[in-house]
Amino acid sequence: MAWIYQLTNFLIGTCLASHACVVCDRFDTGDFIWGRSRCDFCLTKLTLVDELPILSYCFLHGKCRYCQRSISVKLPLIEFLGGLAYLKIDFSQMTGIATAIVIFCLLLAAISDYDRLEFHLAMIFPALLLTLLRFKHLFKLQLGDLIELIPILLVLLFYTMQKKLGSGDLIIYLILAFFFTPHFANLVFLFGSFLLLFQFFLKRKTWSLQKQIAFVPYIFVGLIIQLLLQ
Ligand SMILES: [Zn+2]
Repeated sequence: MAWIYQLTNFLIGTCLASHACVVCDRFDTGDFIWGRSRCDFCLTKLTLVDELPILSYCFLHGKCRYCQRSISVKLPLIEFLGGLAYLKIDFSQMTGIATAIVIFCLLLAAISDYDRLEFHLAMIFPALLLTLLRFKHLFKLQLGDLIELIPILLVLLFYTMQKKLGSGDLIIYLILAFFFTPHFANLVFLFGSFLLLFQFFLKRKTWSLQKQIAFVPYIFVGLIIQLLLQ
């Protein structure tokens, strides 16, 4: 029956990811709690049927039901990634719920970084708080953990000070290292870096090396891989 549990988790993940997109869109106005979703173009209020994660996009052939304009494929893609991220979360445990909150915060940061090349610290504040609550882990760090943590932390710190890396990436590394473990965080960053390199080789003709790159979305996909491999 494990598949029912995973399917439920996947559906919860798609709904949370769908809401994350709304939160990011309206973060500056703050009306993401009560306001209904609207079409970006014709501003018609969407019904529940128009807002089913992934499914609505497929049924409506990627177009708004009211004005027929194309909806970005980004939305169902984020919903799908959200579904994968929550696939193995155990919502019956406190640690599972805490992990779910941390994932949601990192998803907000990833979407915002993708759209605007930055994210607001308030988006990851709950994750920072939960990481601080787990700070007792810090005193249990073994020598092996420190060997994994310190070199990567110094490299990230160096690049952040050189302004080659945003401070957001460093904060996210610290959250992953202390909420999970340094080993976990390193693998997430490794997967994220591989994905970035892979995309660079695919698009190397059009990519400028001077271009600022949103790294948090890659970190988020790295996190999904690491959560699924656990
Ligand atoms: Zn429309």
